[in-house]
Amino acid sequence: MTFKELGLKKEVLDAVASLGFVEPSPIQQEAIPQLLSQEKDLVGLAQTGTGKTAAFGLPMVNQVDFESKKTQGLIICPTRELCIQISKDFQAFSRNFRNANIVPIYGGASIDTQIRQMNRGAQIVVATPGRLMDMIKRKRVDLSQVNYVALDEADEMLNMGFKEDIDAILSNTPETKQTWLFSATMPREVVRIAKTYMTDPIEITVGTKNASAKNIEHQYFRVNDRDRFDGLKRIIDFEPDMYGVIFCRTRRETAEVAEKLMKNNYSAEPLHGELSQAQRDRVMRAFRKKSIQLLVATDVAARGIDVDDITHVINYNLPDEIESYTHRSGRTARAGKKGVSMLLLNNREAGKLRQIERIINTEIKQVKFPTGEDICKKQLLQLIDKVVAVEVKEDQMAQYLPAIEEKLAELSKEEIVKKFVSAEFNRFLSYYGNSRDINDTSSSSRGGDRDRGRGRDRRRGDRDSGRDRSRGDRRERAPRGDRRERSSRSDRSDRGGEGFNRNVDGESTTLFLNVGMKDFSDKGHLIRVLCQEGGVAGKNLGRIRMMDNFSFVDVAPKIAGKLLKGINGVEIEGGRKMRAEVSNQ
Ligand code: ADP
Ligand code: MG
Repeated sequence: MTFKELGLKKEVLDAVASLGFVEPSPIQQEAIPQLLSQEKDLVGLAQTGTGKTAAFGLPMVNQVDFESKKTQGLIICPTRELCIQISKDFQAFSRNFRNANIVPIYGGASIDTQIRQMNRGAQIVVATPGRLMDMIKRKRVDLSQVNYVALDEADEMLNMGFKEDIDAILSNTPETKQTWLFSATMPREVVRIAKTYMTDPIEITVGTKNASAKNIEHQYFRVNDRDRFDGLKRIIDFEPDMYGVIFCRTRRETAEVAEKLMKNNYSAEPLHGELSQAQRDRVMRAFRKKSIQLLVATDVAARGIDVDDITHVINYNLPDEIESYTHRSGRTARAGKKGVSMLLLNNREAGKLRQIERIINTEIKQVKFPTGEDICKKQLLQLIDKVVAVEVKEDQMAQYLPAIEEKLAELSKEEIVKKFVSAEFNRFLSYYGNSRDINDTSSSSRGGDRDRGRGRDRRRGDRDSGRDRSRGDRRERAPRGDRRERSSRSDRSDRGGEGFNRNVDGESTTLFLNVGMKDFSDKGHLIRVLCQEGGVAGKNLGRIRMMDNFSFVDVAPKIAGKLLKGINGVEIEGGRKMRAEVSNQ
């Protein structure tokens, strides 16, 4: 199938051709004709790196009237990096329309510049929620004529706490607009968004939901926490051509890992929310130009980022929300290329492996860290290859040769070779000369790990669930004493779940509740309220996930109706009424 057959205008087709796109990707084939011909909302699900931006961008550009100065199209996305990237893509899509003005609106940069750009009349605005709200309040953006709204990486926007901003933004758009949502994964948050903001949307799914791209190879390493950084170094040293993204859990860890890498002479830079706009721009520019080899990033900062030819994604620490793994690994293997996604796992995290495998529907293979010897050999051969391939500039060399020859006259050819190699290579030899095995072999079977891992895993997830990303750093592991104390507390609150899992073989109904961490101090509290008000036994309650403002509770289907009746309308502290309904997933 060709782009022409999709029904796009000549101007758009020419733009697509000059981008080098030969044929539309599957999500583009499915979505573009629908978006051009139907006036309905649409949810499009496709793996990372499959061209979702063009899937909503081309039809939007195709339908917007660039002769008008009114804002007709709006794209909302979570970060400034993504905002800049999407607006560049849109500028490319609309390059053949003389009066096209695509304006990115994001925080951290001069609002005056953005106001000036808006004053010229922007037909399409690409924005992050916070700054856009600001501009709306200042009456610098008028959304009353918007026909198309696209939500990119919408679940991340909810995670970042932008729900209220998005509500407010959308209330400034006309009822008649079309809303398009594109995502790689379909977590419950996305289902919620679809329910909240869309009317009877068409759903397009390409490939399996939540699946990871086929051309990504997934690997994991077993390592003790104290060897985690060494493990990372070995992986990097063993792949001298790596061009990669290293994901950490928090901003602080991101900063630390980047700093340690830089101190060790690696070409690395951090990307996270605490850096200034200018720093982030500089890092992204340098990384795109490949003058930085390794980007160390948080999930939020790197969501949706499209950089060509990333060879490796390294999960230095697992994401809190397992769904994020797909978004991380999706930074590699873009537009049909290949890539590797690696995980460093300690003993406790082994249980998460299967969860991830289930989500990506792919096996994650265990690999061993290269030994010091492996690394030295690889680096050495790489160096020799480089020496063999180097171009000798005979003319410029000539004048220095006599002096060089005189100095080297005493040495044999063998000695010269050894000395030149050592000059470059001693750094590795001395570092890896007597290195030990850092593979954690304390438990070799995955099954065994899994059982042991599960209990602790659950507690960890419990402790972290629903914490606001902006408070990310607090999620770092608590000191030992503290940790023990917290675990025993959440043990209690999780009891209901364990009972249920034993009794009802995985059959469950998921309920959505309009209460969360802001209303209840912990799961135990919520469980008590559900049991008391709903008149049900704790053993009927299963997995509970609490976000700040809402929760999902898995319950035994036989008691779902009774529980809903019991808890709907119950007044909680502060006078708000509790609302519950069966979640669609
Ligand atoms: P997603 O949002 O699905 O993760 P992007 O929209 O960021 O993916 O696109 C990934 C890459 O694929 C981009 O570099 C984009 O330019 C490229 N791309 C998109 N559509 C096509 C196409 N039809 N042919 C070739 N490359 C494409
Ligand atoms: Mg994208």
